[in-house]
Amino acid sequence: MIKSIFNQFIIKITPLLPLWIVWKIAGRYVAGKSIAGALDVVGQLNAKGYSATVDILGEHTKSETEADHITNEYIAIYDEISKQELDCNISIKPSHIGQDISKDTLQTNLDKLLSKAEETHNFLRIDMESSAVTDDTISLFKSCYEKYEQVGTVLQAYLYRSEKDLESLAQNGSFNFRLCKGIYKESPSIAIQRRRKINSNFMKLLRFAFKNKIYVGIATHDLDILKSTYKLIEELNVQSDAFEFQVLYGVPMSGWLQNHLKNNFKVRVYVPYGIDWYAYSTRRLKENPNIAGYILKDMFRR
Ligand SMILES: Cc1cc2nc3c(=O)[nH]c(=O)nc-3n(C[C@H](O)[C@H](O)[C@H](O)COP(=O)(O)OP(=O)(O)OC[C@H]3O[C@@H](n4cnc5c(N)ncnc54)[C@H](O)[C@@H]3O)c2cc1C
Repeated sequence: MIKSIFNQFIIKITPLLPLWIVWKIAGRYVAGKSIAGALDVVGQLNAKGYSATVDILGEHTKSETEADHITNEYIAIYDEISKQELDCNISIKPSHIGQDISKDTLQTNLDKLLSKAEETHNFLRIDMESSAVTDDTISLFKSCYEKYEQVGTVLQAYLYRSEKDLESLAQNGSFNFRLCKGIYKESPSIAIQRRRKINSNFMKLLRFAFKNKIYVGIATHDLDILKSTYKLIEELNVQSDAFEFQVLYGVPMSGWLQNHLKNNFKVRVYVPYGIDWYAYSTRRLKENPNIAGYILKDMFRR
């Protein structure tokens, strides 16, 4: 109850705050506003032993010109990653490069990115957005994977359907996916609402991936899940090249990231950047007000 009132309060006051205050809060989760700034952060992460994935902030692009512009920016990032020999791939949201405009626009832009990923020996992750586009995103991933090896997608543990989706994708052999809880507000008719049950589904999906040798990016900050994952790795004797841990840039992890590295486990940090940071952060806050609580907890911890 108190948590919910607090969350509503934060959402109401955010638009009234001066931009520099919002940036001071959001800035620790965003790697600047330019490619150079973001890749600088990636370089620093690489130096500490972490891999990275870069995401240009934004979604639901409405014009062809803008979708082209975002696609070209991603292409420039692939070139820079290659030039600077960074350990970094790219994550994109389909709605950012044309999904809301037309299937053709999206496919054309995705093909450009996948050709570039192939040319630069890199990888592209198709992020998962809300349940309105789960079917489309999975079909898109399947059709891309028929043509290109270096592509992966995301499944969300809060969706009841994810178990079937994972089983169905596994029928065509191994592939690469990120497993996360899911960030969008979804109806109880399609999505598990209780944290304990989401965690249990997360572990069920992870067990399936490990047993079926499907490469999985374990994307969570939930320490209970990490503890269970360590047990599962031991129980199934999973090799360290079968998975990686993934976290969002700036989220405190109580020493777990260093722990992963000591165990020779790969850790990939999701590095978002871009001029759309304000709209993106406030939209996310409206969709999932719990983020307000995380940020405040983090500020006090620091
Ligand atoms: C690398 C990565 C990629 C992702 N990609 C997608 C995607 O494609 N589609 C999608 O729907 N969702 C995506 N997500 C978001 C994910 O679905 C969850 O909403 C988010 O990670 C919070 O869930 P959690 O597993 O960390 O557990 P929670 O139970 O939500 O959080 C566990 C603890 O972690 C801390 N924490 C969590 N998030 C934050 C935060 N933002 N700031 C500060 N502290 C925090 C809090 O202390 C919290 O108590 C991604 C997450 C990661 C890490």
